[in-house]
Amino acid sequence: MATFSELGLRPELLSALQSIGFETPTPIQEEAIPKLLTGERDLIGLAQTGTGKTAAFGLPLLDNIEDDFYHVQALVLCPTRELCLQITSDIEKFSADMRNVKTVAVYGGASIGVQIKALQKGAQVVIGTPGRVLDLVNRGKLKLENLSTLVLDEADEMLNMGFKDDLDAILSTAREERRTWLFSATISQEIARIAKNYMHDPEEIATAAKNSSSANITHQVCTVHARDKYLAIRRILDAHPDIFGIVFCRTKAETQDIADKLIRDGYNSDALHGDLNQNQRDVVMRRYRDKSLQVLVATDVAARGLDVKEVTHVIHYQLPDDPEVYVHRSGRTGRAGSSGVSIAIAHHRDGRKLRSIEHLIKKPFEHVDLPKGDQVVEARAKHWVTEILNTESNEESLSHLWPIIDSGLAELDKTELLHRVAGMALQSYIDEYKSAHDINQPAQKGRGGDRDDRGPRESRGSGEFAVFKISLGAKDRINKGSLMKEINRMRSIKGIEIGKIRIHEDHTILELDKYRSKEAFNSFKRWNYFGKKVFVDQLDDRESADKSFSRPPRDKNRGGGGGYQGGGKKKHRKGNSGGKRY
Ligand code: AMP
Repeated sequence: MATFSELGLRPELLSALQSIGFETPTPIQEEAIPKLLTGERDLIGLAQTGTGKTAAFGLPLLDNIEDDFYHVQALVLCPTRELCLQITSDIEKFSADMRNVKTVAVYGGASIGVQIKALQKGAQVVIGTPGRVLDLVNRGKLKLENLSTLVLDEADEMLNMGFKDDLDAILSTAREERRTWLFSATISQEIARIAKNYMHDPEEIATAAKNSSSANITHQVCTVHARDKYLAIRRILDAHPDIFGIVFCRTKAETQDIADKLIRDGYNSDALHGDLNQNQRDVVMRRYRDKSLQVLVATDVAARGLDVKEVTHVIHYQLPDDPEVYVHRSGRTGRAGSSGVSIAIAHHRDGRKLRSIEHLIKKPFEHVDLPKGDQVVEARAKHWVTEILNTESNEESLSHLWPIIDSGLAELDKTELLHRVAGMALQSYIDEYKSAHDINQPAQKGRGGDRDDRGPRESRGSGEFAVFKISLGAKDRINKGSLMKEINRMRSIKGIEIGKIRIHEDHTILELDKYRSKEAFNSFKRWNYFGKKVFVDQLDDRESADKSFSRPPRDKNRGGGGGYQGGGKKKHRKGNSGGKRY
C-alpha cells in the first residue's frame, strides 16, 4: 500500500494530511491521485459515499492550483448546500498549509451579495450547487475562463434533483481546456451523455462493485404494521442507548412530524429538511456533527452525501421507491472503515422493494425482531450498570457534599440504596414497557406471493391512510360500490387505494391513501352527487378516526370494516391524521 508522499503530493498537502490524521490513502485515493496529478485525461470515478472521494479529487485539485494567481482555477459542483459546506470544509483543511489559497462556497438559500463579495476577494477554488453557480456566472460574478479543473461530485444526484439544464449550461460555458472529473455512485444514461458531450476521452475508475453498498454495513429489516412504525423507532432507540443515528423519512412533513414526536417523547432529536431555512439547517447539522444531537430525522435530499463520523445506525422509517436511494441512505453509516447498521422498518407489502434493494446491494437483508418490552428494559439496565462502572468517582469535588449525602442516606443499607437508585434510572422504562405488546409481524412474503406488490406503481398504495368524513350517507342512497365508482370517476385520484368505508345515515367515513390525500382534497372540491354539493372533512387525529369506524353501522348491508382498492383489492388498515375542511 502506497503512502501519501509516494503518490507525489506537494509538501504543504502532506503536512496538512498529517495534521488531519490521514495516514494511508484509501483505495480510491491510491488509484485516482496519481492519475489526476500527472494525467491529462478526464476521469469518471465510480465511487460510493464514504470511500474518501473528497480527498481523491480535492488533493490533486489543490496540487494543481497556482497559489499566486488569484482567479478561479477549480470549480466543484455538488447537489446540496450541506454537501457544499462539507466539501468546502474538507478542502480548507487540506489546503491549510498552502499560502494564499482561498476557497469559497456558493449555494442557494444564502445571500448572493455575500458570496459575490467573497468571490471578488479572489478565490482560486469554488464549491457550489449548480443553480447558484449558474446564477453567478450569468451575472458575470463568477468567471470560468481560467478554470483548469471542473469536478462534478455526486453527478447522479445532481441529475436526479433536476439540475440537468444548469449542468449543461455550466459545462458548455467553462473553459474548453479544462480537465473534468466526474464522480458518481451510479452510471446512468444521462451520465454517459454528459461524458460524451463534455468530457475528453475519460478514463473510468471504480473502487467497488457498481451500485453496491459498503461491506461494513449490516442490513437488517424488521416488519411491523404501518401504524406501529413510530413505536418501532422508539424500540430501536430505547434498546440502543448509545445510538448515534439518522432516521430517514420520505417527505418533509413526515420528517418534521417524526422529529416532533421524538422530541415530545424525550429523545434528543431534531429534523433536517428543505422547509427549514439555511440557518436552521446549519444549526441542526452543527449539533449533530458535534454529537450534542443523538438522532437526526432527515429527508433523503437534505442528508444526501453527509459525512458525519461514527453514525451507528441508519433507520428507514419508510423504504424509498428507488433502491439506489437506499444505498445512499445506508452509506451514512459504516464510513471510513467503521461498521454500522442499516435497519429498514418495513410492513408486509414492502417485499418487492426489499428484493430490489437486495439485488442492488448484492446482500440479503437479515430479518430481525424488534426488542420486546422486557428486552428493552434489560438493555437499559445493562447500559446503566456499564455507565456506573465506567464513571470515575470524583471524591474531591464531592467532598463538601458528603455530610449531606452520608447522613441523609445513613439509614439505607447498600441493597436498598441500589434498588432506589436503579428505580430512579429505570422506572420510566419499566412503566412504559410493562404492558407493551409485541409489534413484530411476520416477514414479507416471498417473490410472487404478495398480490399487492404486483400492480402498476401508480395504483399501489402506501398502506397508510388518511381518514375522511363526507357529507353523503345512507339517506343519499350511497353504498360502497357507488362511492368507489364516484371516487374512481375523479381523474386525478383514479385507482387511489381505498381503505375502510363505513356508511352512516347522513355521512360516510372512509380511508384513502395518505400519500395521495392532497390530490384527493383537490378533487373533492368539485364533487357534486346528483346535484348536491358534497362536503368533506379530513379527521385530524387517530382517536376520532378510530371512533368513527368503531360505531356500528345502522344498516348492516351498507356498513362494514373491509377495505378495497379502487379496483377491488381487500385491505384492513387504520386511519391517520389530517385536519382540513373545504
Ligand atoms: P468521503 O467519501 O470523502 O466523504 O470520506 C469519508 C470519510 O473518510 C471522511 O470522514 C474522511 O475524513 C475520511 N477519510 C478520507 N480519506 C481518509 C484517509 N486516507 N484516512 C483516514 N480517513 C479518511
